[in-house]
Amino acid sequence: MSQSEPVQNMNAKNLENATSDLTDGFHLLIDALKLNGVKTIYNVPGIPITDLGRYAQAQGIRVLSFRHEQHAGYAAAAAGFLNKRPGICMTVSAPGFLNGLTALAHATTNCWPMILISGSSEREIVDLQRGDYEEMDQLAVSRPHAKASYRILLAEDIGLGVARAFRAATTGRPGGVYLDVPGSLLGQVMDEVEGKKSLRQVIDLNAASIPAPAAIARALEVLKSAKKPLLIIGKGAAYAQCDEKVRQLVETLGFPYLPMSMAKGLMPDNHVQCASAARSLVLKESDCVFLIGARLNWLLGQGQGPAWGEKYAKKFVQIDIEPTEIDSNQTISAPLIGDIESCADALLDAIGGNWEKPSKGWTGAVRAKVEANVARMAPKLRNNNSPMDYQGAMGVIKDVMAEHQDTILVNEGANALDQCRSIVDIHKPRKRLDVGTWGIMGIGMGSAVAGAVETGNQVLCVEGDSAFGFSGMEVETICRYNLPICIVIFNNNGIYRGDGENWSGGEDPSPTVFVKDSKYEMMMQAFGGVGVVANNPDDLRRTISEAFKSRKPTLINAIIAEDAGRESGNIGNLNPTSVVAQHIYPQAKK
Ligand code: ADP
Ligand code: MG
Repeated sequence: MSQSEPVQNMNAKNLENATSDLTDGFHLLIDALKLNGVKTIYNVPGIPITDLGRYAQAQGIRVLSFRHEQHAGYAAAAAGFLNKRPGICMTVSAPGFLNGLTALAHATTNCWPMILISGSSEREIVDLQRGDYEEMDQLAVSRPHAKASYRILLAEDIGLGVARAFRAATTGRPGGVYLDVPGSLLGQVMDEVEGKKSLRQVIDLNAASIPAPAAIARALEVLKSAKKPLLIIGKGAAYAQCDEKVRQLVETLGFPYLPMSMAKGLMPDNHVQCASAARSLVLKESDCVFLIGARLNWLLGQGQGPAWGEKYAKKFVQIDIEPTEIDSNQTISAPLIGDIESCADALLDAIGGNWEKPSKGWTGAVRAKVEANVARMAPKLRNNNSPMDYQGAMGVIKDVMAEHQDTILVNEGANALDQCRSIVDIHKPRKRLDVGTWGIMGIGMGSAVAGAVETGNQVLCVEGDSAFGFSGMEVETICRYNLPICIVIFNNNGIYRGDGENWSGGEDPSPTVFVKDSKYEMMMQAFGGVGVVANNPDDLRRTISEAFKSRKPTLINAIIAEDAGRESGNIGNLNPTSVVAQHIYPQAKK
């Protein structure tokens, strides 16, 4: 930062005899983060935060440097979900900030606490648009994508700025917070004692939010009157980390439940009340739906449409910490505004021992459907086809997750996502990290690094070949930190499928296909990890088992039939197509 050098040099010269009693912006920021419990920073070094990373490491924070800010950001977002405390991502100015911003928006959309700290160029130059190095008004750009955005201009305000960021990221509905750190702030010096005094520790970061007694009584009235009740458990409930309370509530009520994708495992997927394998039936026929930390957004069809069986009148009860979530789609007959633990406590208290579970007529019908569907699926998961189909390969992943229940499963792709979510049971809370509310590709390696670093557990990534490409370079990061991450690439040579054609008859490949028979395993070998090929489910089982035993970074190139996938997986209906295409392109009929 040549613009700030004269100031820093002058400070250093004037104060060269007194530096032992001074601190600076770098160290105040590091101390403020440490005071608020930060142990890990996900980082990409560069101007003006290179030394910030070095000093943070020297001061005992684990600093993991990535190859691209988006993946450092996704790691921080996933860390926020896993820990119920903000994950920290640190980037350089303008382009690095923008790369990290995608992840910050992802955290905000998913309601996870994260703080993006980006270095920025000098305000005096940026604000007059005089053309600085990496000039950008980052604070303004961040606002629509963050729950809150702050800029710190004075060293004595660092404690305040960090406290504001922690409070905003976690309190109420969690989200992403942007913290703008101009390069000139980092070099500012101040008296060390005064500096220490200026730091603040945020008290009661996840403060309880107690539901009103009248709201509890109303909710119980509605739930009691239900003949065919259904629970939907969302990732907000997994995030809340009151696993035993949720279990107690679910088992006391005795309702069939559907876990949303990242809530899988909060209640085990093989629990008798789990209705995942009877999803169509329970969504359609239920007369009362109790949402716990789940939104009626696109993932639930906004709570309407044929899947919800419009001829069956439904009532909704919803627990959410965010008041404006209530009534955002369907009328909520009984809103419970509060944190999930406090709501569950209050409900259980009010119930006492006095609860009549739903009739066997309802729970028995759901159970029968579950068992029939599970039995119908079972043989398909046991084939040993080569090349593999999704079901044969997912059968292996399902077994692995049953045998190694503490493994963190990272999952992204189209078919690789949909098939894995529906086939692979999760047995413990917060063991599934996936594409989240946006359904985005690219979260894979960042989430995997966070999974390994934050828990110390083995990580298994189930990746479509396309999805893996968004973050593939981070295999170097995984090897550099020698993390116990096993990546399985479901390689069908393309996006959705590998058999797409160029409809012009020209030489370029179709927009949806990749180089055929790509040797992804060599990407891992290039950095000293283990790279192998699996041609059939037996290979896949053996190679995963070896990876888990060695805990070495491993990439398994799992060969899936080119024609095995479906366009856009289970959400092909969201993909607009032309009604006239069939008349223009004969191939479109296929
Ligand atoms: P899913 O995608 O699994 O359905 P969503 O992300 O849509 O889950 O919904 C999670 C919901 O949980 C959000 O509306 C969020 O406000 C809410 N939430 C997050 N943390 C808590 C908490 N501690 N208590 C109550 N609600 C919470
Ligand atoms: Mg593919």
